[in-house]
Amino acid sequence: MANKKRILTGDRPTGNLHLGHLVGSHLNRVKLQDEYDTYILLADVQALTDNFDDPEKVRDGVFQVLQDSLAVGIDPEKSTIFLQSAVPQIAELTVFYSNLVTISRLERNPTVKDETKQKAKFKDSMPLGFLMYPVSQAADITVVKGELVPVGEDQLPHIEQTREIVRKFNSIYGHVFPEPKALVGGVARLVGLDGNAKMSKSLWNCIYLKDSREEVRQKVMRMYTDPNRIHPTDHGKVEGNPVFIYHDAFNKNKGEVEDLKKRYETGKVGDVEVKEKLINALNIFLDPIRERRSKYDAKKLLMEILSEGTKKALKTAEETMKEVREAMKIVKLV
Ligand code: ATP
Ligand code: MG
Repeated sequence: MANKKRILTGDRPTGNLHLGHLVGSHLNRVKLQDEYDTYILLADVQALTDNFDDPEKVRDGVFQVLQDSLAVGIDPEKSTIFLQSAVPQIAELTVFYSNLVTISRLERNPTVKDETKQKAKFKDSMPLGFLMYPVSQAADITVVKGELVPVGEDQLPHIEQTREIVRKFNSIYGHVFPEPKALVGGVARLVGLDGNAKMSKSLWNCIYLKDSREEVRQKVMRMYTDPNRIHPTDHGKVEGNPVFIYHDAFNKNKGEVEDLKKRYETGKVGDVEVKEKLINALNIFLDPIRERRSKYDAKKLLMEILSEGTKKALKTAEETMKEVREAMKIVKLV
């Protein structure tokens, strides 16, 4: 494993995983876990930056995201899944990095700006922790010397911020870190059921991996389509239509998708048929995930997997921090 490059990626434990996570990042994680030494972070400290008043949600989220990740196909024998709060070296590195970033640079981060807009409570009173979570994310990635970061498109400004910090650190203190690269998934940003630009736990517009067949049915049936199409004989719009975006992303029967698109555009198919076929495709996609999920139901097993992964991550993080402290001329006490 020593000569393999490292992946670092992760999730905020604020609820169960949804289809957006899958196509943005998780499918790549599963695909690459043999080729890379893979570290997966459950970012509970980051989740607290905007959920500090709801700690139960974050605690429960740790086990939800862990179980979902294993269900998608992360193999704990191959990948290291670990808990952010249990690796204090991340907090230490965040403090060192906070000298290398300006407040105005953080305020210009487009993802932080978007997220702030969604959170009315932060408009006039931004907590310091939330503003600087991209700095802590730079510490997450580099504390294990991550070189590849599988993420959705909304994370690109954060990876760019990390690269800037790495360049600055290396130029002042000497070369310690590789510059990480982002790897965006097959769908960079999956739209929400409501047509919103992003399926997101915070926007209540998700199909969750743990949703039952019945829940998938109900959600798809209520899904937003072409608002200008009232009758099945009206000519519909395929482009930008969430139902077809999902067909493209999840329906493996490409012939069926092409046929539905053609008939939709020429007014020869109703929304119900298009949605029925999507429900079927989503269930084909989700069934193996549901099956694996049931194998990781026991809290004790989840706890063991997380403890083992965290032990390994702690060791790697401390190795990195020894180099960091030496490069930064931190006095070493005997
Ligand atoms: P929150 O609203 O709590 O931020 P989230 O749904 O944005 O939740 P995160 O834990 O922030 O989820 O994201 C985990 C990973 O999944 C990131 O790499 C992110 O880019 C990716 N991701 C999240 N939503 C989508 C989406 N709709 N399309 C593509 N990738 C996504
Ligand atoms: Mg997010």
